[in-house]
Amino acid sequence: MPRLDVVVPVFNEAACLTELVRRMRDVRQGFTADDVDMHLILVDDGSRDGSADVVDELAATLPWVAAVHLTRNFGHQAAMTAGLDASAGDYVSVIDADLQDPPELIQPMLRRLIEKDVDVVYGVRDRRDGESRFKLKTASLFYRMLRRSSGIDIPLDTGDFRVMKARVVVALRALPEHNRFLRALVPWLGYSAIGFSYTRDRRYAGDTKYPLRKMITLAAHAIFAFSTMPIRLVQLAGFALIAVGGFACTAVGALQLFDVVNPGTAAWLLLGMTVQTGLIVLSVGVVGGYVFRIQDEVKGRPLYVRADIGPAGTPAVLPPPSESISLTER
Ligand code: UDP
Ligand code: MG
Repeated sequence: MPRLDVVVPVFNEAACLTELVRRMRDVRQGFTADDVDMHLILVDDGSRDGSADVVDELAATLPWVAAVHLTRNFGHQAAMTAGLDASAGDYVSVIDADLQDPPELIQPMLRRLIEKDVDVVYGVRDRRDGESRFKLKTASLFYRMLRRSSGIDIPLDTGDFRVMKARVVVALRALPEHNRFLRALVPWLGYSAIGFSYTRDRRYAGDTKYPLRKMITLAAHAIFAFSTMPIRLVQLAGFALIAVGGFACTAVGALQLFDVVNPGTAAWLLLGMTVQTGLIVLSVGVVGGYVFRIQDEVKGRPLYVRADIGPAGTPAVLPPPSESISLTER
């Protein structure tokens, strides 16, 4: 029987967990009828509201629920990674603990994945209830910008709610970077993926664990890990200042030579400063270019992902050499 692991990051969600597991139980029953063995992996991310005890209690009473505890709060991305690392299913799903993503959709999503023979089915939020206009607008703007500037096919209006084949999870483990942004790392791997439209519900209980401060940090992580746009803008600004300053110096110099204008010392100082600032800004941009390349090396992402065996470094099983070709005879 194929196995499906559902990874749930949990941070201070005690009020949601019982309801989550109640609904997951029904989902599991549906899966059993479909001949899929569903398991739940609850990752307690250093909760301080008693979630850890609830998780343990659920894991102790239900054989299909597993508990993973982190020593302290490491953050959403780390918690999801811990869950993915602990998973062993043929299929793996990720879902929030707060029931914003309806667990009942995992089954049609898995069905779509198998029917369409793709590696990832990700949830696309066509409506989001109970989110502020500000959050919706900024999120939409941010993802459009990230998509453009990273050149990666990051789907819009998409969170972490998804179902993946095991090989995608295995490939994710080959990405050792610490500034994790899973919803972009999965498309970076390049496996085939399709969206699944759904309406995102309100939180079942509690408050968002993503206040503005954390959202900005996450957005910055995503930009710095996936885009060279900021440093390219700096380089461009440097070039532009030098070009404008240099052109103005030449033009004013020529006009002064023929006594057309006499700009005076202050104007010359200003023009000189423009060129000088340009040089400094460009120098920063050049250093940034090196830093970017260092960061790229340090991230240690595989150079490529092979469609058959996965990321670079995975030992390839070569077919035995054909007997009709003999290299030594040439
Ligand atoms: N979460 C976590 N660690 C954190 C913050 C959040 O494991 O440091 C979990 C949280 O319990 C939830 C999921 O990540 O299951 C998404 O968080 P939340 O629902 O608060 O984010 P939102 O949906 O409001 O963007
Ligand atoms: Mg949520």
